[in-house]
Amino acid sequence: MELSTNERQRLWQRVKESVETCIVEVPRGRVTPVTTPGQVRSLLESFTFEDPLDPVETVDFVVQGLLDHQVHVSHPGYFGLFNPPPTQMGIAGDTLAAAFNPQLATWHHSPFAIEIEQKLIRSFGEKFGYNASQVEGSFVSGGTEANHTALLTALMHAFPDFKSKGLRGLDRQPTFYVSLESHHSLLKAGCLCGLGRDAARLIPVDVKLRMDVEALALRIERDKAEGFAPFMVASTAGATNSGVIDPLPKVGDVAQRMNIWHHVDAAWGGAVLLSDNFRGLFEGVAQADSITFDAHKWMFVPMGAGLYLTRHKGILRNTFEVLASYMPPDASKIDAVDPYTHSMQCSRRFIGLKVFLSLAVAGWDGYAFEIKRQVELGHMLRKKLEANGWIIVNHTDLPLVCFVDGKNQAGGSLEFLRTIQEKVLASGRSWISIAHLSDGQPVIRACICNFRTTEDEIHHLVKDLEEARLHAD
Ligand SMILES: *Cc1c(COP(=O)(O)O)cnc(C)c1O
Repeated sequence: MELSTNERQRLWQRVKESVETCIVEVPRGRVTPVTTPGQVRSLLESFTFEDPLDPVETVDFVVQGLLDHQVHVSHPGYFGLFNPPPTQMGIAGDTLAAAFNPQLATWHHSPFAIEIEQKLIRSFGEKFGYNASQVEGSFVSGGTEANHTALLTALMHAFPDFKSKGLRGLDRQPTFYVSLESHHSLLKAGCLCGLGRDAARLIPVDVKLRMDVEALALRIERDKAEGFAPFMVASTAGATNSGVIDPLPKVGDVAQRMNIWHHVDAAWGGAVLLSDNFRGLFEGVAQADSITFDAHKWMFVPMGAGLYLTRHKGILRNTFEVLASYMPPDASKIDAVDPYTHSMQCSRRFIGLKVFLSLAVAGWDGYAFEIKRQVELGHMLRKKLEANGWIIVNHTDLPLVCFVDGKNQAGGSLEFLRTIQEKVLASGRSWISIAHLSDGQPVIRACICNFRTTEDEIHHLVKDLEEARLHAD
């Protein structure tokens, strides 16, 4: 397992060079690979793991494979799914986390690492408008786990016996409410919690794709009258498909009136709060019972950095604490937190380090500047598309643009849009996707989530779209 001093030096040198290659070369290459499953598998065929290999040669093999066989989300022409290029401080953070390998199950083992995370939880809580002395939270793998955590804490809040008796101990079927534009992870969480898929009530959206608050209130009332037990509504602040922000204050009012938990899924969009220019978009978030936020999306931290926040101090412990005698002593006795009693995970990597290093070095101001710049690029893209006869179909200030072709008779059909998308991807210069809005309408979706994307890439994308359209029939 141990390499010699000489081997280590060669290895670190090569890893360092490879990281630089990634930063410098990826933007110059294709964003979309030309590859097949067979090609990738045949590359791996010679690996029998019988004879030990040279460390540097093995790293070189992996680096080449990653360069040739992936969609490069770090590429400035990637207008994709909230996967940013990672900050360099984030890369350093993940490297150091792997090297020191602190165990974040218990405070006893990793006090420094855990206090860094607790400090970040308070700082992000305050950014969202929570009171620092009330907020608690946990670093999780991503938005999916954060939403699952939200559902569990809301269940615990509504049904204090849930932890001991389970759902079968309840006399009524619990139900929760999400909009048609919400992220699928909430439905998955419903299944995983044992509530079942039918417990999720899909609330229609208005013409601007925001949750229809009247329909929400009516559905909750109807469910109550029919003997169900509504316990949570989840708003989305920055929907995955459309970038739309639900009317948080109004949903919050309904939640309060109906006495149910209000969760805000701000996995991607939450970062817009880092710029004071856009705080108004998130009015009402501070009254939410809990929030999902992903630092690995619009904060450009390497993947695996989600955050669940709540203003209900004690709810995480109530939900997740199962003490084990083989674990080190209970940290709550010294007013500290054992993360394994506050989340689903036990052995856990130091997720917060890449966030801490990125934020400490860029500062809130660095993020504010970058977010504002990307929002402006989004507006620029919208304008250029409209000038060329594309029709923008989503209404949001966030840099996510959904559009169809207004110049072509079949310009809104899935087949046409797919042809356009395929041609753009084949150019190797830009990456865009197809999404289906909740009314079934297919759209081309282009999202800016990249600190390397400039006006040049916007220009190239618009040009690629024009060329694709010319040759689409
Ligand atoms: C991305 C996203 C999620 C899921 O987050 P992961 O980190 O991919 O698990 C949840 N909700 C919204 C609104 C998202 O955009």
